[in-house]
Amino acid sequence: MSSSAADADLVILGAGCAGLSLAARLARSSNPLRVEIIEPRTGYDDDRSWCFWRPDRHDLTDLVSHSWDSWRFSGARGPALHHRVAGLSYQYLRGSDFYRRALQRIGGAPDVRIRSGAHATELVPVGDGPGALVRVETDRGSILARHVVDTRPRAMPAAIYQSFSGVEIESEHLLPFDQGEAGLMDAMATDSTGMHFRYTLPLGPTRALVEWTRFSVAPVPAATLADELAGELGRLGLDGARVVRREGGVLPMGTTVALPAVPPGVVVAGNSGGALRAASGYGFLRIQAWARACADRLERGGPPVGHPAEPWLRRSMDRIFLQAVRADLDRTPEYFLALARRMPPAGLVRFLSDAARLGDYAGLIASLPTAPFLRQLVPSGTAVRELVRA
Ligand SMILES: Cc1cc2nc3c(=O)[nH]c(=O)nc-3n(C[C@H](O)[C@H](O)[C@H](O)COP(=O)(O)OP(=O)(O)OC[C@H]3O[C@@H](n4cnc5c(N)ncnc54)[C@H](O)[C@@H]3O)c2cc1C
Repeated sequence: MSSSAADADLVILGAGCAGLSLAARLARSSNPLRVEIIEPRTGYDDDRSWCFWRPDRHDLTDLVSHSWDSWRFSGARGPALHHRVAGLSYQYLRGSDFYRRALQRIGGAPDVRIRSGAHATELVPVGDGPGALVRVETDRGSILARHVVDTRPRAMPAAIYQSFSGVEIESEHLLPFDQGEAGLMDAMATDSTGMHFRYTLPLGPTRALVEWTRFSVAPVPAATLADELAGELGRLGLDGARVVRREGGVLPMGTTVALPAVPPGVVVAGNSGGALRAASGYGFLRIQAWARACADRLERGGPPVGHPAEPWLRRSMDRIFLQAVRADLDRTPEYFLALARRMPPAGLVRFLSDAARLGDYAGLIASLPTAPFLRQLVPSGTAVRELVRA
C-alpha cells in the first residue's frame, strides 16, 4: 500500500481510546503500513475506566480487572431493582491497563510511531485523483499522508449532556457496598439542573469508584460536579476515604450536528466520529468494533473507514427517548425506573449494547409511559425536534 511520495501510509490524530485501538491492531498486522500517530500527551494517567457487558471470554478478557454479575437501578425512594443476565457480566477495564498494552504493542512495531507532545493543527489536501495526499500540519512540522484518521475531540452540540465526576476511593473501613453488584443508576432524582444519580463500582471491600452523574440540557461545570460528588460522599459517610484517582467528563448524547466536512482521504473516528451511543453514552465496544473493521480494511489495501451509520430503528428509538427526556427532565427517573422494572434485563442490556431485537424495542415501548413518547412522534416542528436530528 506504500506510496513513495507520502511520508506515511496513515496518520492517526490522537492516541486515546480510538487512535490507540486502531494503531495497536495495525502494529500486529501481517501487512505492515507506515503509521504515524500525533498525540499531545507525553505520558498517560489512569484517567478513565471503561465498562461494558460481555460474556466471560473475549479478546480483551485479560485486561478486565473487575466484573459484576448483577447491576442495580434505584430512585430516591422505594426498593432498588436488581438485574442479572445468565452468561453476561458488567466488566471494568482500567484506562492505565489499556494504554499500557496498546503502547507495548505499538512499541514493538518498527513501522508504527507515536509523536508525543505534538498537536495536529490543520489538514490540507494535496493533489487530486488516486494519488491525492493529505498534508498534516502539526506544531512539530508537517507530514504527508496517504490517509488520515482524525480522533481529536471536538465540541458537539447535543440533545442531552451526561456530565460526571468520579473518584476511586480507598477507605480504612469496610465500604457499604455489595461487592457482587454494580450500582448503575442509584438514587435517581431531579432538581432544577436535571436528573442526577450515583454510579458505584465496588472494587474491593475497602475500594470503590463512586461517580456523581447528571443528565441535563447543558454541560455541567466540573467544579459544580466535584462539589456535588463531595456532598454525596459525605451523605454516604465516605468523606474521610483516601482519593486514589479521579475521572470525569461530559458526554454528548444525541449529537445534533453532522460530521465535519473533511478533505478526501480523511476519516473522523472515536467520539468525534459518532462512537458514542446516543441513548447511553457508551462508546468503548463500538470503538473496538470500528478499530477491527478499519484495520481489516487497511490491511487489505483499502482506505480507512468511519463508524457505521446507526441503523434506522436504533437511531429513531434513541432520538425519541432523548427528546422525551429533554422535554421533561423531571420525569427522567420515572422513565429509567420503568425500563428497569418492566423490561426483561436481557432485553435492556441488548438495547444498551446495540444488539436489540424487534421484541426488545416492543418491550421498551410497552415499558414506558405512552403520552410523553407519543408526543415526540407528532410532527410539530418544535425547537427540540429541529435540534435532534441525529
Ligand atoms: C471518564 C470517561 C469514562 C468513560 N467510561 C466509559 C465506559 O465506562 N464505557 C463506555 O463504553 N464508554 C465510556 N466513555 C466514553 C468513551 O468510550 C471514551 O470517551 C473514549 O475514551 C473515547 O475515545 P476517543 O478516542 O474518541 O477519545 P479520547 O480517548 O479522549 O482520545 C482523543 C485523543 O485526542 C488527543 N488530542 C487532543 N487534541 C489533539 C490534537 N490537536 N492533535 C492530536 N491529538 C489530539 C487527546 O490527547 C486524546 O489522546 C467514557 C468517557 C470518559 C471521558
